[in-house]
Amino acid sequence: MTLDGELPMFALVDCNNFYASCERVFNPLLQGRPVVVLSNNDGCIIARSEEAKALGIRMGTPEFKCRELLRQHNVTVFSSNYPLYGDMSSRVMTTLAALAPEIEVYSIDEAFLDMSSFRRYNLQEYGGLMRRTIRQHTGIPVSIGMAPTKTLAKAANRLAKKDPHYQGVCILSSDADIRAALERTAVEDIWGIGRQWSARLKLRGIYTAADFAAAPAAWVQKHLHIVGARIQAELNGRSCLQMELVRPQKQSICTSRSFGRSVFLKEELHQAVATFAAKCAFKLRREQALASMLTVFVSTSPFDADGNRYWGTRTIALRPPTQDSIAIIHAAGVILDSVFQEGPAYKKAGVLVSGLVSDTMQAVPLPLFSDEESALDERGGSIMRVMDAVNSHYGKGSIRLAAENFESWKPNQERLSPCTTTRWSDIISVRA
Ligand SMILES: [Mg+2]
Repeated sequence: MTLDGELPMFALVDCNNFYASCERVFNPLLQGRPVVVLSNNDGCIIARSEEAKALGIRMGTPEFKCRELLRQHNVTVFSSNYPLYGDMSSRVMTTLAALAPEIEVYSIDEAFLDMSSFRRYNLQEYGGLMRRTIRQHTGIPVSIGMAPTKTLAKAANRLAKKDPHYQGVCILSSDADIRAALERTAVEDIWGIGRQWSARLKLRGIYTAADFAAAPAAWVQKHLHIVGARIQAELNGRSCLQMELVRPQKQSICTSRSFGRSVFLKEELHQAVATFAAKCAFKLRREQALASMLTVFVSTSPFDADGNRYWGTRTIALRPPTQDSIAIIHAAGVILDSVFQEGPAYKKAGVLVSGLVSDTMQAVPLPLFSDEESALDERGGSIMRVMDAVNSHYGKGSIRLAAENFESWKPNQERLSPCTTTRWSDIISVRA
């Protein structure tokens, strides 16, 4: 419930085919054409434009397995360009932060917004305005779902993406609209219901979100426990699900907190951000994942007067991808220095790691010659990662070991697009 007793209203804004869309922004000839993006070291397909999806190219397919198909249909293939995606993400989030009182960055390309105070406005129209503004400021197409709970906002977003009739904005506010949306949502597509749970639910004859919402609460509580019970309540319009209760599909890990008081000192923010960064690193190791991107954000209270509000965020690439606490804390500190402004009363900060890759499948490239092996012990590896994080921010080679063989740490990225937004040498030139 909001302060004045109104019903809550959440928006979930999600970028469409985010990595593929980023590649298109600076390459307009690719509009309307099939585009795919490959994982680290050009391994698997991790993003597809709508046209590529229509060709039947599946998510996660190894590149070599569909090489012929890609060639036949003249699909444009990109290596993943995390500095570009991270920077485009920051632009989208910064634009969003100006459009709503509170923003919760959920992943590199998704954010929840608190729209409760907008309920009296025409939400369909405002959603359209948000889409146009983001498109105009960043070139990225987004889909927007709005509903009284986060779980319903997720479902609304899915419909906004799938059904062209919504023109990218799906608002679920009346009971009838919510009911119809739940009937159109398969149980496995409910946010937080895993594959395992949906199998068990189907055995019980529960196939749609509407079936799940109507299932006996005691049965849900018994078999799906408190988390399942909260999802069910959310589907029935009772907002109770905290973000942390639903595990994102390991695409990103976020640690953030509102402070109990206003924070003005950079040193204090550094302490908070370092703590969150260490937590993210710990969670990465527990998930056996390496992060390719790191985001830090700081913000004032959403209730501050307009002129006093500040929302700062920045995303950088981690090269090579890492789960090392020292590396992530250092890189987070570097980002904080670049977004911190003297003056605002900070109320919240957070750290987000994304672009996750498995640490077993996608190891750091091994050195070519055995005498380089000493550089790969734990400590040495950590130091390398810290330096790469700093380097990805201040430019390649800003700091490095005297003995470092720079080239051997370069990932395999044969089809990398330019870092148009983060590197001066790659900036676009316009011919008049
Ligand atoms: Mg997306």
